[in-house]
Amino acid sequence: MNKVVIVTGASRGIGRNIATTLAKKGYIVIANYNKSENKAIELQQNLKKENINIDIFKADVSNRDEVKKLVQFVINKYKKIDCVINNAGIDQVKMFLDITDADWNNMISNNLNSVFYMCQEVLPYMIHEKNGVIINISSIWGVTGASCESHYAVSKAGVDALTKSLAKEMGPSNIRINSIAPGFIDTEMNNNLNEEEKQEIKEEIPLQKIGKVEDVSRTVEWIVEDEYITGQVISVNGGWLI
Ligand code: NAP
Repeated sequence: MNKVVIVTGASRGIGRNIATTLAKKGYIVIANYNKSENKAIELQQNLKKENINIDIFKADVSNRDEVKKLVQFVINKYKKIDCVINNAGIDQVKMFLDITDADWNNMISNNLNSVFYMCQEVLPYMIHEKNGVIINISSIWGVTGASCESHYAVSKAGVDALTKSLAKEMGPSNIRINSIAPGFIDTEMNNNLNEEEKQEIKEEIPLQKIGKVEDVSRTVEWIVEDEYITGQVISVNGGWLI
């Protein structure tokens, strides 16, 4: 049987391209979405036209019970989970003094608790198989900190710490856990920036270009197939942070 992979937040942006890339490579893909049902259905139908079948599954990954249901769906249908790409995430630009308790908790729930829940729900199956790969999509801001996005930066730094801790704890069970930390990738997440602001960022990046979703997917493809890399935070940022 081909490898089974769950991609969270696969309706749009980076996750959608990761799901597409892995499906085209022959992985059995379960594409998770939350609010963008139409986009998830469209993704499924586009792949169907190329004779590629994927499952789509609605779950708010900031909710433990919904993550449990997603994992149970996959186990009931395929009996195993080889890989998880924890990609779902939100951002919010707000000055530190304006961040409310609700903003803070919402950020941590969506970006960090989601990864905690998913790892706890899938790892028993991976440990049983003595096989597994988890990739967490974190961010350059988790490494550097980010002005006006402190709660986002904290959530992503937490993801990286969880990646490293789990890599140590799960290595003896032959489970590899890595983070991929993108820099600036052209998706709806950055729609709050105007063209002038995007141009300024481009000029700060040594490769002088904004990243594409494919740049992240290519790294995912490499890490899922690899056998000896674990506990790393892999930068995909055009040299923005060196
Ligand atoms: P995006 O275009 O805004 O897409 C976000 C995706 O996450 C959507 O598919 C959304 O699904 C899903 N999602 C959000 N909250 C969810 C939840 N609670 N449960 C299930 N799905 C949820 O963002 P993106 O740029 O592709 O970002 C993907 C990941 O890369 C995020 O973790 C982000 O922090 C990280 N990242 C992005 C950049 C960048 O420059 N774009 C840079 C560094 C890191 P629905 O619409 O179906 O709800």
